[in-house]
Formats: sequence, structure tokens, C-alpha cells
Amino acid sequence: MEELVECTSPIPEGHETKCWGCGLRLLLPSYTPIFKCGWCGAITNLNPRNCEVRWSYRWRRLRDWVFVTILLLFMLFVICGGVWAAFPLLFSISFFCGVFHSIIVFILSVSTLSSFSLAAFRSAGAPENMLWGSYPIVGKVGLEDYTFCVYCARPKSPRTHHCRTCGMCVLDMDHHCPFIGNCVGAANHRHFIAFLFSVVISTAYVSIVSTYAGFHIWPPLVYESLDPLNIFSTAAALRALKAVVQAFLSSALLLSPRGLVLLYLLIASLSVEIGISVLLWQQLRFIYEGKTYINHISSLNIGNVESGWQNIFRFFGFPHRASRFLLGSSNAGKSHKK
Ligand SMILES: [Zn+2]
Ligand SMILES: [Zn+2]
Ligand SMILES: [Zn+2]
Repeated sequence: MEELVECTSPIPEGHETKCWGCGLRLLLPSYTPIFKCGWCGAITNLNPRNCEVRWSYRWRRLRDWVFVTILLLFMLFVICGGVWAAFPLLFSISFFCGVFHSIIVFILSVSTLSSFSLAAFRSAGAPENMLWGSYPIVGKVGLEDYTFCVYCARPKSPRTHHCRTCGMCVLDMDHHCPFIGNCVGAANHRHFIAFLFSVVISTAYVSIVSTYAGFHIWPPLVYESLDPLNIFSTAAALRALKAVVQAFLSSALLLSPRGLVLLYLLIASLSVEIGISVLLWQQLRFIYEGKTYINHISSLNIGNVESGWQNIFRFFGFPHRASRFLLGSSNAGKSHKK
């Protein structure tokens, strides 16, 4: 990384340049592409940037819409398919059992779809507008450690990152998630975590109910040449395994469409549950440590934020201010300790 030069006082016979933040003319000892203004604290970066290619932006938006559509269709299939496949059996056990599971399915469906909608279709969190560009308006350290977003043509705080897929600067950006077609930032991070919680609980419920219902309609396994007393040699164990797999596959072919849907729901819900549990665990660990995924991969300075349960409580307890302790300058960290 290039050296950051702080210009505290004009030096005669140096390189003259201009601060984008306060508009003051600065004299640097020599030409440097990155420097910090001694008055407003803004960081100027004169390095050339790669221009955004139009088709690359459109491709990423298209990819997001495909993922979001697939995910929505999958959720609707799990809800409708699960109800169609499992509810006749649940209602056959008793009317009360059917009603009980109807209520659970309703609650889980509403919580999953509503948290998904809030995470996906709500703005991830635009940073507040800052006055910039002229000396009398921008005061001393008024833009401390701010950089300039060339895409949005506006100041960008250390807690803000520009997302090229969303085409905007996002406050406390965690990552861009193609499955919700949106960034995860200050305004929707809690909804995203709620969505992950809801998916983990819902898929656990789907796997339990589909296993229970599947056992009732699964045809009995018919084994051939399986000798339980002779499976301790490698060849005999392989033969036994082959017999079990063959019996499983031949039974699966006898399954009704309902049974096949239950089998698919079991495999899909277990796979999704494992993947989302890992993601949720990773997210909770970052919140516990008081950082975001972007901080984690870029090793950015996140100030004096200590790991601890207080970060988790703040994150879930105070909707809009909670994320201030995530990322940001050391000032933000200090103000939260008061
Ligand atoms: Zn300045
Ligand atoms: Zn931007
Ligand atoms: Zn984004």
C-alpha cells in the first residue's frame, strides 16, 4: 500500500495540489498520489481507477434477479409442497395435530418471507449527506478520514463502502448477497440475521416433519443376500452396503409422488440447514467481535471495539444506532463506551 502523507503546513517549493474535501490549496514536499488534508482530514487519492463497465453492472444485476427468483420459488415450493405432502398424514393422526402444525407452518412462513422481503427490498443503508468542497463550510477535521467515492461523487466515511452491484455507497456494509439481491448494511443487517434464524428453524422443522411423514409411506426395504453375521470382512461389508443401497433405491421407485416430494424436502432442507447454519454462525461471530465481513477480509482498522456479548446485545437491542459500534472510526467506538 502506498504511503499516506499528511500535509500539516504548506511548504514552499513543493508540489501544489488541492484537497477535494475543503477545496484548500495544499503544498506537499513532493508529488504523492495519496495524501491527507491537515485541515479537514479528508484523504485524497489521485491513483487512476478502473472505470465501471456498463455490461458488467447489468450482468451482476441480472444474476441477482435470477438468484432472488430461484430462492423465492424454492421457498414457495417448500411451503406449498410440504403442506400438500405432509398435511394429509398430520390431519389423519388427529384434527388437533393438523391445526397445531398449520399454526407452526403459518408462523414460520410469515417470519421467513417477511424477513426475506425486508432484507432484500429495503435499502441497505445510505450514508448521511455531508457538506463538502469549500473551506468555510467544512470545519476543522470535519471530514476526518473521509475518502471520495468516484462513482457516487460524494464523500465516503471510513464506515462506508461502495457496492458496484447496487451502484451506491452503503453504511456499515457487511457484504453484497446475491441471494437477496441486495447489500447487507446498517439498515437491513438485523433483518438479514432474522432471515437466517428463520431459515434454520424452518428447515429443521421441515426435515423433522418430512422424516416422520416419510416413514409412514416408505415401502418396506427388501434385502437380498444380506447376512448380518458375516459383514466383518471388507468384501462382505461392501456386499451388505450394496444390498442396502439397492433396497433403498428400489423402495424409492415405489414411492408415490407425495413420498418423492417428502424425500426431496428432507434432502433439500438438510442441505440448506447445514449451509445457512454455517453462515449464521459466521455472522454472529463477526457481530460478537464488533466487525463486519468486509473488515474481516480487508483487515481494516475498526477502532477500539472490544469483542463481547455487549456487541450482540447492542446489535439486536437498538435498531438504528446499534451498527455504529460495528466498523467505523475509533471515535464511534469511544462514544459507545460512554
Ligand atoms: Zn481539506
Ligand atoms: Zn459510492
Ligand atoms: Zn450491493
